[in-house]
Amino acid sequence: MDQHEPITGEMDMDEFRQSGHQLVEWIADYLEHPERYPVQSRSRPGDIRAQLPAAPPDKPESMAAIISDFEQIIVPGITHWNHPGFFSYFGITGSGPGILGELLIAALNVNGMLWRTSPASTELEEMTLDWLRQMMGLPAHFQGIITDTASISSMLAIAAAREALNLDIRRQGMAGRVDLPRLRMYVSDQTHSSIEKGAITLGIGQEGVRKIQTDDDFRMKPEALRVAIQEDMAAGWRPFFLTATVGTTATTSIDPVTEIGAICREHNIWLHVDGAYGGVAAILPEMRAILDGAEQADSFVVNPHKWLFTPVDCSAFYVRDPEILKRAFTLIPDYLKRSEEGVTNYMDWGVQLGRRFRALKLWMVIRHFGRDGLAERIREHIRLGQLVAKWVDADPDFERLAPTPFSTVCFRACPQGLATRLRSAELAETEQIEAYLDQLNGELIEAVNATGEVFLSPTRLRGRFTIRMAIGNIRSDETIINRTWELLTQSARQIDARRQPVAE
Ligand code: PLP
Repeated sequence: MDQHEPITGEMDMDEFRQSGHQLVEWIADYLEHPERYPVQSRSRPGDIRAQLPAAPPDKPESMAAIISDFEQIIVPGITHWNHPGFFSYFGITGSGPGILGELLIAALNVNGMLWRTSPASTELEEMTLDWLRQMMGLPAHFQGIITDTASISSMLAIAAAREALNLDIRRQGMAGRVDLPRLRMYVSDQTHSSIEKGAITLGIGQEGVRKIQTDDDFRMKPEALRVAIQEDMAAGWRPFFLTATVGTTATTSIDPVTEIGAICREHNIWLHVDGAYGGVAAILPEMRAILDGAEQADSFVVNPHKWLFTPVDCSAFYVRDPEILKRAFTLIPDYLKRSEEGVTNYMDWGVQLGRRFRALKLWMVIRHFGRDGLAERIREHIRLGQLVAKWVDADPDFERLAPTPFSTVCFRACPQGLATRLRSAELAETEQIEAYLDQLNGELIEAVNATGEVFLSPTRLRGRFTIRMAIGNIRSDETIINRTWELLTQSARQIDARRQPVAE
């Protein structure tokens, strides 16, 4: 018989311990001083790949070599979402308890598809989501599942609403059916694009999504909704789903959910509330009213991975009646049969079979900070956001472009005397002023981002280039907020002085 060397199995546990301790040290140093790095990676396209071998290694490599490449090659290509100066998109936080939770999740490597594949995974998920529900003051009839993202949570909501129509779409599909009405969904012109993507995915199509106008404060207009529904019904559409948002992406506006919900009830339309970003603010007693009307919702989504200090990914999706969701998605092959009574098998609640044990990190975050600790941190972000809004309002060279209900501020530089200057250069048309302001603010955001101290991202509001400062990282304090404002005001004046079409 041939003599074979035994195949080596798992990593040597002494090496695991040594590398593990080294990495925990690295993480602690990193989290203590993320500001050592530029917020936005300075890599140019292809820089990282150019430093990596195109083919995989044939032979084992040491953890020391791997960790060294991580530090030398990967870290410079990281944009630091943990940096206190990260104000782009929505500020988020990989907090200590959340990171330790991720470590345990990876170690246990549980696949929580059925209750029996890990009872603790399912039961902790049910319970942790119920804690979160209680903290936000939502009624007890909401039951939840954790998904990866709000995009997927909302897609599940659309699928459940479609199932609730009893049009036998699950069995027959939609294509080529003359017996089906065309299905219509409603969003506002500020709703997150994920809802439209859900419509694309589920065969509703982009034409099936009607965008309702918003008011001056970027909130869906109920009267415009009512008219749209009437027009659609007269034209043979079947209205079936609406998304109201608590904290829209661009401005964090809050739709009038109570009024919209009443219209939905009148027309038997599924009400989905997207609180992906803003929903957690309801943990604060003084902010509880943001969820007024959400108690009527058929489904609700909030992302702990946005403003609840839980590492990406973790989206909490609640439904009033899980039976509809289960009707839409239960499909049990022989190899996944189960016999336990009265338990939740989360594979029946959505598309995915395999599921990470995300509840563990959320549970650790909630326990570590406690309800009061979470509330304090969110409250501080709101205070800082309001402070920036006040500075913008008080500065004659800046203007705010939207209300600030949470901690995200939308504004632009708009130098005093600009109209006079442009007029004397015979450029006084509003369009030309707007074009000048767009360029000025575009340059401004690039200039402040180039410092590496902060990272802001733009949006467009009513056609205007808008700077958005979204405060949501646990490490963002008043010092960095002050510094950001200093950078913005200094740079705006320098750029304007350089660009001036004519001297005053
Ligand atoms: N809904 C709102 C209001 C959002 O702001 C976002 C993302 O910013 C989403 C949904 C999508 O979130 P996710 O990245 O979890 O899919």
